[in-house]
Formats: sequence, structure tokens, C-alpha cells
Amino acid sequence: MARIKTTIVGSLPKPSWLAKPEVLWAPWQLEGERLAEGKRDAVRTVLKMQEQAGIDIVGDGEQTRVHFVHGFLQGVAGVDFNKLKRIGIRADRYEADCPTVVAPVSWRAPVHADDVKFARANTLHKFKFTLPGPMTMVDTLADDYYKDRSKLAFALADILNAEAKALEAAGADTIQFDEPAFNVYLEEVRDWGVAALERAAAGLKCTTAVHICYGYGIKANDDWKKTLGGQWRQYESTFPLLAKSSVKQVSLECANSRVPIDLISLLKGKDVLVGAIDVASNVVETPQQVAATLREAMKYIPVENIHGCTNCGMAPMARPIAEAKLQALAAGARLLSAESGLS
Ligand code: ZN
Repeated sequence: MARIKTTIVGSLPKPSWLAKPEVLWAPWQLEGERLAEGKRDAVRTVLKMQEQAGIDIVGDGEQTRVHFVHGFLQGVAGVDFNKLKRIGIRADRYEADCPTVVAPVSWRAPVHADDVKFARANTLHKFKFTLPGPMTMVDTLADDYYKDRSKLAFALADILNAEAKALEAAGADTIQFDEPAFNVYLEEVRDWGVAALERAAAGLKCTTAVHICYGYGIKANDDWKKTLGGQWRQYESTFPLLAKSSVKQVSLECANSRVPIDLISLLKGKDVLVGAIDVASNVVETPQQVAATLREAMKYIPVENIHGCTNCGMAPMARPIAEAKLQALAAGARLLSAESGLS
């Protein structure tokens, strides 16, 4: 059997010449053609960094976007970026300046196809690209038009589906939808969230994934986590719904979290991207610690369905720490593969 593969959730720190380091959603340091060139250089750099670390399925580290939702929305008609509103998001966990839906949303043209083509041409590894999921998009937007979260979600899902098909055609091997909102609105996930996600992924032939986490390693999220009690059981209601869905992979947070690991047994039949790297801590995991996290997962999911992954994106981290963590992730997965007799 093949050894345990590794991948990243999505974002990686940007070089300091491209955006201010260790700041989430930092604005660009360059403009115009120099910015375009800077983004390409950053993508080359992070691809190489992942390859050298030993990561199997690489991504572009979201080097071409400031924000994982708003970066995509800039290419969507019906969303007015001149009408920014400061709103509470993720059930008012924190505030963000969000553009406003002012008219029916529609897809103009591929937003990220050129990004995928460029990355595809610069790595021989399998390549994953991340898009925001419909529920998380709805939750990161002001809405003066639909005034109904599910209606807006399905409209955005159709746009995401068109985009995802264009990215698949551009060479993406995996398309992952990021749905941190799935850990916040459990009833909406059941009522329409998973259905909207499936519509976004409908008809794709490439690997499809969903990432559900407890957020970036920032203070608002750390404070929220403290309110969730001794056991985080949000996944318990969501995983059975995803197990029945058409999405092939589920990426979740495990390392240093209070998620009872046995909950992943609810994902039978799916590939599970086990978060074995804590993105909220600057302490670099040892390969042994990574292997221990993955070994626990093996008790509940067949090893051939396990991938080693990070808990979440690494954008706000210092670059050397992120790099060392990726090396530990790959080394830990190889350690456990060898121990398990996988080649
Ligand atoms: Zn995340």
C-alpha cells in the first residue's frame, strides 16, 4: 500500500516584499505589473518550499489573494466593493469590513484560472486550489439584495461551480471549499449548507474537498475556543451529513484541539485530511508528534483514507516557522508510513 500522503489546508505566509508579514489579510506592498510579477514569484517560492519540505499535494499558498473570500468575490458581479460595511461575522465572533450584495450575483469570467495555470506549470506535484464555500461566503458578505442566507448561498454555489469547473480545466487536481462557518451554524449546515456545498462541487471530476475548522490562529478565535467547553463536538452533527455527500475529502482540525478524535469514524468512506499541525502555536511539532496524531486517526479510519495536513491556513505565521512545520508534517507522515509497512 502507498505511504500516507501530505497536503496543506491552503494559505501560507507571504514574502515580506509582497505583504506585511505576520498580519492576516495584509494589503499588498506592490502595485500594477510589479504586483503581478511579485505574486508569480511568491507562488514559485511557496511551491518550492512545499516540495522541499516533502509535501505531496501542494497549493499556491493563496499568494495571489489578500482574503480567501473577498479575493474571489472581486470577480463576482452584483457585489459592490465600494459599499463596505463593518459587520459581525461567524455569529459575531469578530468584525470585518465586508462588501455588499446589491444585485443578483453572477459569474463574469474565471477569477483564478490563470493562477491555477501558472502554478500547474510550475510544479510536477498534484496541485490543490482552495475556494471559499457558499455558507462562508454568505457569512462574510453584507447583503442588501437577497435578504435570505440560503437563497444567496445557492446563487453563490452556482458561481462557485462555474469557477471550479474552469479551475479543473486549468489543471487543478483537487478543489477544496473552505467552510469554517460549518462549525458555527450547525442547523443551517443541516438545512442548506451541505446542499449548497454539493451544488458548488456538482459535476467536478477532480478530487473535491471541504475544510472545516475552528479558524485561524488569531485572538478572536482563541477566545471563542475557550467558550466551547472541554470537548468540541461540532463535527458530530456535520460529519454524518458530509459522509452522505458527494464531496470526497474532509479536512479538519485535530492537533492540540479538543475535538474527540473518534468523531472521524463518522466520515467512513471519505478521505480524511487530519490536521496534525497546530497553526495557532509557534512551537514546531516533532515528526513523532505528527505521527502520533495520525496514528490516533488510524484507529477510526483506514490508513489509505488518511492524509496528513495542517489544522488550518498558515498565513499569519512567521515564514521559517511555517516552513519547519511543513517539514515536520511530511517527516511525521513518512515515519508513520514506515512504521506501518507502507512504501
Ligand atoms: Zn481553517
